[in-house]
Amino acid sequence: MTFSERNFIKQIEALTPASTPDLIKGIGDDCAVLAKSQNQAILLTTDTLIKSVHFDPAWHPPYLLGRKAAAVNISDIAAMGGQPRFALLSVGVPDATEEDRLDQIMTGFHSMLEEHNMILIGGDTVSSPALMFSVTVIGEMETEKVLYRSGAGQDDLVWVSGPLGEAAAGLEICRSHEKKYDRWPSLVKAHLDPKPEVELGRILAKSGMVNSMMDLSDGIATDLAHICTASSTGADIRAEDIPFSESLLQAAATLHLNPLDLALRGGEDYQLLFTSPPEHATALPCLVRDQTGGEIFHVGRITAGQGVMLQDNDRRKNISFQGYEHGG
Ligand SMILES: [Mg+2]
Repeated sequence: MTFSERNFIKQIEALTPASTPDLIKGIGDDCAVLAKSQNQAILLTTDTLIKSVHFDPAWHPPYLLGRKAAAVNISDIAAMGGQPRFALLSVGVPDATEEDRLDQIMTGFHSMLEEHNMILIGGDTVSSPALMFSVTVIGEMETEKVLYRSGAGQDDLVWVSGPLGEAAAGLEICRSHEKKYDRWPSLVKAHLDPKPEVELGRILAKSGMVNSMMDLSDGIATDLAHICTASSTGADIRAEDIPFSESLLQAAATLHLNPLDLALRGGEDYQLLFTSPPEHATALPCLVRDQTGGEIFHVGRITAGQGVMLQDNDRRKNISFQGYEHGG
């Protein structure tokens, strides 16, 4: 039997003892949530990146690799609506690693922390057969504003914070070894140097119009299925409403990739996926436009059914959990 990440997480959950008063949310969301004071919560998340599994040094510049190791964790804080504050970093370093390479990784890591006014407060360095990073990020926010995966209800609108499939297309461009990097810099950047949506996450959590949220790390087919499972609902999404950038459509045509496949099953977009009651259909995008100048995209609706159903022209099929399984 092959390893299933979802089954393994279920086994771990079964071994976890019942909660304590300080624990607001344990396993099963983007972050664990602890009570800090009566009104404030601490958010905790951890993630690991391993060479050849999560990154390829052949095309991933060390400075950007350091930034990404921080960014993917910060994104999980953004996914709850929180403010990231502190980080812990453990690095596994093969003996042959050049010092300059490691310096660049650390400079990149620090640059991402600086962009979010965060501080590195500890970690560990070990010898390892493959280069790896394990990062823990600590954030905080108002307890009553925390957005969980479990808050979606029937007829809610499903939104995403930006075009999908960008990072998956960027990965394919890097893999193609055809030196097409310069043609689609935004796609390559989405893969090499993703941007955690902290500011938008804060705005959405404070708006009072959003009732569930997570970040898109494994593709919307899998990630929306997580919201549906946690909220005991289903969801319908429409292929024609999935937002694509012009670059993605061009790159997909040139490299013979299916844009919809990249969006549904590709990983690592780190856009936010969230739901709101239908009465906020107009006010929510207006608020986001006013406060960030950016757009959000309505891609579907929460249903009383089960699983994530994709409506593609006259075809309708269940796409639940049809994505990458790599954690996050
Ligand atoms: Mg996440």
